[in-house]
Amino acid sequence: MKQIVFATNNPHKLEEIRSIVGDRAEIFSLADINLEGEIPETSPTLEGNAIQKARWVKERTGLDCFADDTGLMVDALNGEPGVYSARYAGEHCTPADNVAKLLDRMQDESNRAAKFVTVIALIEGDSLSTFTGEVEGTILTERSGDGGFGYDPIFKPVEADCSFAEMSAAEKNNISHRGRATRKLIEHLLKNL
Ligand code: IMP
Repeated sequence: MKQIVFATNNPHKLEEIRSIVGDRAEIFSLADINLEGEIPETSPTLEGNAIQKARWVKERTGLDCFADDTGLMVDALNGEPGVYSARYAGEHCTPADNVAKLLDRMQDESNRAAKFVTVIALIEGDSLSTFTGEVEGTILTERSGDGGFGYDPIFKPVEADCSFAEMSAAEKNNISHRGRATRKLIEHLLKNL
């Protein structure tokens, strides 16, 4: 059976991929292969970071692997927080700090358009592929809902009447940036099994 490492220890991301791939391939987390250490994310682009993380794993294990990177791009802020979405409010900030900072920056802004983008980089043998998923939406003026994570309470996708934090996981996956990029990755993996 094909074996592949997902450069993450995020249980939600792992569960999502494993449930779709089923018994057609074995997906390992970093913990499953006892790979420890801080994976560098120093690129100014999502694609660069996803590739950097996948290469880091490949170099240390020799195993086929993939990695993802996500950012929230806000039009009125010239694409910020973008690649810095996880550390928008500072190096050791919480997701709540990031949401508070973004709401503050957007306080007097009427153009509330934004999009989430996920890039997944896959390394199989010597070959590198990338898969991108996007969802357009708007930044709400206040938090709404307590599901999901990160910026979910203040992001309303164009396809819905509520924030990501008010949806079930299945509803969110169906239209989300990560769901879209993941389905492209899985289509590719299943073609090559
Ligand atoms: P990562 O690349 O998946 O670690 O995501 C970077 C940052 O973007 C995270 O720390 C979150 O703040 C934010 N983020 C990523 N995906 C989502 C999402 O689906 N909803 C809300 N925020 C997200």
